[in-house]
Amino acid sequence: MRQQIAAANWKMNLTLQQGEELIDKVLNAGLTLKEQQSVLFAVPFPYLPMTRQKLGGKPGYFACAQNCYDKKSGAYTGEVSAEMLKSIGIAYAVLGHSERREYFKETNEMLASKIDLCLENGIRPVFCCGESLHVRESGNQNRFVEIQLRESLFHLTPEDLKKIIIAYEPIWAIGTGKTATTAQAQDMHAYLRLVLQDHYGKELADSMPILYGGSVKVSNAHELFSSPDVDGGLIGGASLVAEDFIEIIRSLK
Ligand code: PEP
Repeated sequence: MRQQIAAANWKMNLTLQQGEELIDKVLNAGLTLKEQQSVLFAVPFPYLPMTRQKLGGKPGYFACAQNCYDKKSGAYTGEVSAEMLKSIGIAYAVLGHSERREYFKETNEMLASKIDLCLENGIRPVFCCGESLHVRESGNQNRFVEIQLRESLFHLTPEDLKKIIIAYEPIWAIGTGKTATTAQAQDMHAYLRLVLQDHYGKELADSMPILYGGSVKVSNAHELFSSPDVDGGLIGGASLVAEDFIEIIRSLK
C-alpha cells in the first residue's frame, strides 16, 4: 500500500511552548501507526530542533520544514537552505504552498530548483499544487495543475520522482472552511496520477502519495481519505488543535 500521510502545517502560528504542548498531546494519544502511515509536523524553522527532539525518532513521525530557499548558499539574508535543514536532521520539506506562491511570488521554475536542492540533500519534498477559484470556475483546473507538475517535477529522473509527495490543495479551499467535495478531490488526484503515468509509467504513478489539502477537518477527513487516490492530507487550521489532529490521523487508511 502507498504511504498514507497526515501532515500538519502550522504556518506562522503557535509559540514554542504551545507547539511543545501540542506535540506532547499527539504523542500521548495512544495512536498506533500502521506500517504505511506517517505523521509530519511542518513547523516554523525555529521549532524544527524541538520537534525533532520531541519525536525522538519515533517510527512514522517526522519534523518537516515549511520551505527552503532556491539557492545553495550565499548572501541571502534571512533565508534557509536545504543543506542547513539537512545539517539539523530534517528529512521533509513542504515546497510551493499556495501562500508562498501568492505572497512570495514563487514560480514553478523556482520550485524546480528548490526540489533539486532538497533531493540533493536527502530531503523529501511535499510539493503543493492547486488552482484558484477563477481557474476552477473556468473549468481549466486539470490543465493548470498539470502544468505545475510538469514545470517543477518532470525534469526529475524516476528515481528522484519516487521521493516526492504531492499535495493537491485547491486555493479556494485553503483556510476558507470550504472543502473540495470528495468527488472533486478524487477526480483531480486520479487525473494527476494519469499525468504521472503518461510520463513515468503506471508503476511509479501508482506508488506516489498524493495528499489532499484544503479545510480538512475531523468531520470530513475519513470520507476524503477513503477515496482510492487520496493518500492523506496536508492540514492547516485543524492541525493546531491537538484533539482534532489526532482524530484526523486516526482517519488515515
Ligand atoms: C494548508 O495550510 O495547507 C491548508 C490546507 O490549510 P487549511 O487546512 O486551514 O485549509
